[in-house]
Amino acid sequence: MLDTPPIRTNWTREEAEEIYAQPFMDLLFQAQSLHRQMFDPNAVQKSRLLSIKTGGCAEDCAYCSQSARNGAQLPASKLIEVQRVIAEARKARDAGATRYCMGAAWRGPKARDMAQLEAMIEGVKALGMETCMTLGMLEQDQVLRLRDAGLDYYNHNIDTSERYYPEVITTRSFADRIDTLARVREAGINVCSGGILGMGEEHGDRIDMLLSLATLPEHPQSVPINMLIPMADTPLADTPPLDPIEFVRTIALARILMPRAHVRLSAGRTEMSDELQAMCIFAGANSIFMGDTLLTADNPEEDADEALFDRLGLRAMAAGSHGTR
Ligand code: SF4
Repeated sequence: MLDTPPIRTNWTREEAEEIYAQPFMDLLFQAQSLHRQMFDPNAVQKSRLLSIKTGGCAEDCAYCSQSARNGAQLPASKLIEVQRVIAEARKARDAGATRYCMGAAWRGPKARDMAQLEAMIEGVKALGMETCMTLGMLEQDQVLRLRDAGLDYYNHNIDTSERYYPEVITTRSFADRIDTLARVREAGINVCSGGILGMGEEHGDRIDMLLSLATLPEHPQSVPINMLIPMADTPLADTPPLDPIEFVRTIALARILMPRAHVRLSAGRTEMSDELQAMCIFAGANSIFMGDTLLTADNPEEDADEALFDRLGLRAMAAGSHGTR
């Protein structure tokens, strides 16, 4: 086996552009070669996502049907009961998920929500699963409470490049997101952060988004790469689809810049052919959401995922596996 490559946080724009723009086959070969040094190439981590509070969000993310500012297509729900979360997590575990992600549609948690969130984390961890939450912006004391309850991962996407960000969200800044990521990282919680492709950005924005993550003091442990699912009545409803080859290039660049991260093929899989998903996995994606819905968008049914895993000879990654071979 080759030596493990160094983990770098000082990538330059020129280096990243050169990697991204090289001939596609060379890019795939580089990404897959690196992937094999760091991970079992035939193992994919499976997560399940549950919406614990849906709709009525005060933020204005242009891609999101849960924003009250985008026409509030989804009525606002309350934070769901802890016992329901645990029951759903148990089902997910029995179906093969090793990580349970809980997402709330709001700007950030309120003080009155914290005890319920802590109980969810403790209950899901007691099932032997890793826990992940996505709750928006966090204050320092909230980060510490979630950590002390045992939270393994915190998801907070930067969504796109700093340049393009104001085209997508105006109610909180790119810097706000970076601040929350810093609090989470410094508290010792694993960071899950990525973005959405196909929102009308340029290819340089995709590179810059990944560079923003790859030049943090420590790389996120998990990097979800989403393909936009244009939702009716959102400002991005009529956005033309992204060239799938650009999507694969971005996955490969994420793998190369952040070799130890789990690169997650996230929203948008329903629109992808099996062949495209296989190409993404070859390019270095090694984590997926399972189940037939994400927070609000469709996701492939578990049977379809099982069939694809069988056809590709893939297997589920064990809980707690952080990959470096
Ligand atoms: S992406 Fe999250 S923060 Fe943004 S509008 Fe949707 S639910 Fe709210």
